[in-house]
Amino acid sequence: QKFENFNLSEEVVKAVSDMGFEELSLIQEQAIPYLMEGEDVIGQAQTGTGKTAAFGIPIVEKVDSNSNDVQALVLCPTRELCIQVSEEISKLAKYKVGLRVLPIYGGQPIDRQLRALKKGVQIVIGTPGRVIDHIKRRTLKTNNIKMFVLDEADEMFDMGFRDDIELILKDVPEDRQSLFFSATMDKNIMKFAKKYQKDPKIVQV
Ligand code: AMP
Repeated sequence: QKFENFNLSEEVVKAVSDMGFEELSLIQEQAIPYLMEGEDVIGQAQTGTGKTAAFGIPIVEKVDSNSNDVQALVLCPTRELCIQVSEEISKLAKYKVGLRVLPIYGGQPIDRQLRALKKGVQIVIGTPGRVIDHIKRRTLKTNNIKMFVLDEADEMFDMGFRDDIELILKDVPEDRQSLFFSATMDKNIMKFAKKYQKDPKIVQV
């Protein structure tokens, strides 16, 4: 399927065309309609399948750039992934005027993140530890988050981030949309999904 025929905004169609994308990848074709409809989704997809844009495109389409509140929070296991995801979503958001994307991860001076958060960003991509840090400082407000994404959930569980993720989830409004992406789908993830998602749609590639 081509992006032009997929009911996306002109801004996003132009952005993906700049990025050299012609057709939707399999995971995108399956996941994007559910995400646009507000469904919770468990997506099983390896890196390289286009999973970042599968959640990045609906995020960019759905957040309101007229509000300065954080509306989408993506958690990633590592700083590198955080930067990579943030860059991809920034590219997708290129023509959406006023849309701001911010990576927040440990190891980076916190004051730069503080200033950016104060100015207002709609989309935050973070590692769990630094996200908790900002929540505790009240520099990251979670009360208007509408989309919550775990990227590489299996990796995050393996790295011991489960408690951190649960702590963050306590602060995210319950009527959010929850999207869990993982390369594998083991018992841990299914149990976690059962606890934190509502009637999730399962997408596998
Ligand atoms: P990911 O699986 O998200 O790490 O994406 C792997 C690579 O594929 C990234 O460089 C993306 O920019 C690229 N990509 C994502 N979606 C598409 C698409 N529909 N067509 C071509 N390349 C894509």
